[in-house]
Amino acid sequence: MLLEVNDIATFYGASQALFGVGFGVDEGEVLALMGRNGMGKTTTIRSICNLTPPESGTIRFAGTDTARQPAFRVARLGIGLVPEGRRCFRSLTVQENLLAAARVGRWTLARVHELFPRLSERGNQLSQTLSGGEQQMLAIGRALMTNPKLLILDEATEGLAPVIRQDIWRAIRALKEDGLSILLVDKTLSELLPLADRCVILENGRSVWTGKPAAIDTAVKDRYLGI
Ligand code: ATP
Repeated sequence: MLLEVNDIATFYGASQALFGVGFGVDEGEVLALMGRNGMGKTTTIRSICNLTPPESGTIRFAGTDTARQPAFRVARLGIGLVPEGRRCFRSLTVQENLLAAARVGRWTLARVHELFPRLSERGNQLSQTLSGGEQQMLAIGRALMTNPKLLILDEATEGLAPVIRQDIWRAIRALKEDGLSILLVDKTLSELLPLADRCVILENGRSVWTGKPAAIDTAVKDRYLGI
């Protein structure tokens, strides 16, 4: 198991957001983390990265217990996070953003350009001049440049034009075919479910359902996803 999340509880100050979340991600697996708004998906991701460290429970990543490790060290274990809201260094060019993240491995500037040709065309532009979709490509490209063992995408297609969404989904499919382990949060079930190997559903800060995407029938959707 590449990532093991075991019964974590996470707080924002005095307010508890997670009450017992547990699941695993295998090497080469695409796991969809699902649930209605506010159920704890982003908090689970923040917990895994130790940006908001859990108060109890355990997280093991690539054989290492991540407790009490600063977030930068957890990232260096091999977690590439594409956070909600796609943050990049706005005053750096596209190429500078990519190179600033680079760590040795299979992912190089050339491979990121192959995945997202637009980033090659826009290489010398400041990232703040990019469209939303291009910024999302840059955020994914940056995460790949760190040569992660696990890529985490939090709502990577939210708020983007349909054509650009398709580009992002195509890229995620290519990454899966390439064997990358991916933890995915996205509201577009029609794209998410065919890509996922397994799904975990959160409700009120608890993992309440785990299974194959094919097992997500109308009853599961009605009960947990509000569709
Ligand atoms: P969404 O799809 O809306 O992003 P989510 O499933 O990612 O939802 P979280 O963002 O993890 O859910 O939120 C889980 C709970 O934690 C919610 O009740 C939310 O109000 C609360 N919460 C999130 N961020 C904070 C914060 N910074 N401070 C206090 N409470 C927070």
